[in-house]
Amino acid sequence: MRFDLITLLPEAVAAFAALGVTGEALRSDKAQLAAWNPRDFERKARPDDKPYGGGAGMVLQAEPLAQAIDAARAASDVSRPVILLSPQGQPFDQAMAQQLAQGGGAILIAGRYEGIDQRVIDSHVDFEISAGDFVLSGGELPALMIMDAILRLVPGILGDENSARDESFVDARLEYPQYTRPESWRGRRVPPVLTSGNHREILHWRRVQAIGRTWERRPDLLDESAFDAHNRALLREYINEFLAGQSKDATSD
Ligand code: SAM
Repeated sequence: MRFDLITLLPEAVAAFAALGVTGEALRSDKAQLAAWNPRDFERKARPDDKPYGGGAGMVLQAEPLAQAIDAARAASDVSRPVILLSPQGQPFDQAMAQQLAQGGGAILIAGRYEGIDQRVIDSHVDFEISAGDFVLSGGELPALMIMDAILRLVPGILGDENSARDESFVDARLEYPQYTRPESWRGRRVPPVLTSGNHREILHWRRVQAIGRTWERRPDLLDESAFDAHNRALLREYINEFLAGQSKDATSD
């Protein structure tokens, strides 16, 4: 899998990309990353200019970006989508990460200033992705974010394949809560079922927690399967525990 990132700040990207799961992937033969700086193309003093029609800020010019995208395309035989990081794009989610993880990577464009000339979007970009409904100063963080989300789904990149299989958003659920040693920390104990050694009960507890948390925090994720008889029973169990916890808190207040 190969990512090409068009950015005015290649150094910032290189520093982060060397770390953690992304760093491991890039050091293996499973992933490659190349950064392209529009400043290196169409040698002019600046790759940006004032917006036509007036207004604040600067806009990245079409030609240096188009040349950088063409160079990135020419660097690999594998056909990959050209994606612009933009607050106006489709909000990124796990389903998009899963879909992109099936392909050969992407050419990612990180905008800066007021954004990039619309004409290069029209001529070179396949689609736009947003990190969420907020405005950042540049597309580098969203580009790294989506690269990380995609790479951890590529077989062989995570140490334990089950990590990606058991996670939030898989099967339309958030993940159950996690605990580690010590068993008692500042008076708070790990739920006893997790130290019982009974794998069936642990699995059951995790399913109850996963569906319950999703119901509590992100009911929008729950699909029809969450309301079949089995899952309704799990949810009822969570709600009963949840209400019991609330009434305990109320009596201790
Ligand atoms: N003027 C643009 C607008 O109002 O839509 C915002 C430009 S923003 C200051 C500069 C660059 O940061 C964008 O071109 C984009 O690449 C990136 N960016 C900012 N917020 C983003 C977000 N939520 N998701 C993805 N990229 C974002």
